[in-house]
Amino acid sequence: MTFLSNYHNLVEKIDHFCRDIENRYPESLVCQKGCSSCCRHISLFPVEALALNMALTALSWTTRKKIQHRAETAGPDDECPLLEDGACLMYSHRPVICRTHGLPILIKTPQGFRMDHCPLNFTTGEKPERAFTLDLEQLNTLLSTVNDLLITEVLDPGTLPERILLSQALTMEWQSA
Ligand code: SF4
Repeated sequence: MTFLSNYHNLVEKIDHFCRDIENRYPESLVCQKGCSSCCRHISLFPVEALALNMALTALSWTTRKKIQHRAETAGPDDECPLLEDGACLMYSHRPVICRTHGLPILIKTPQGFRMDHCPLNFTTGEKPERAFTLDLEQLNTLLSTVNDLLITEVLDPGTLPERILLSQALTMEWQSA
């Protein structure tokens, strides 16, 4: 989809950097298929919600209906409606936050920058280096820019909240500008 090309390019770059981090710390990163403790209800920028919604339409009718039923009935404290048997039903289309889950991130606080990662990772004593850490603020700025571009060019901003729950993204109808 041309109007989602900025988003897809950004996702490709993020994925590339995440692979670099994983290759740098093969012993210290234990994230793997089946570990789904990060897969709770999340909220998305509209651009991510639209990308997920459009990817959903490519799935079979049965899978789509199953996912949408879960999305409609899931409570705010439930696991993500895309999670099935410990795996993501739309893994290749998962939002940016899911691609970075567990990896070392840099968070800006009033006191300066703070490093964080899943407590199950880096239990070997190894410490993540700055060059192999995701800067959360930079990531959000890039995502927000791509989001603003899409809203300006394609969507009707009057109909959109700033953030959209993943479960809503799976069931909502979109209106173009
Ligand atoms: S979209 Fe996929 S990876 Fe992201 S929280 Fe849901 S199940 Fe997990």
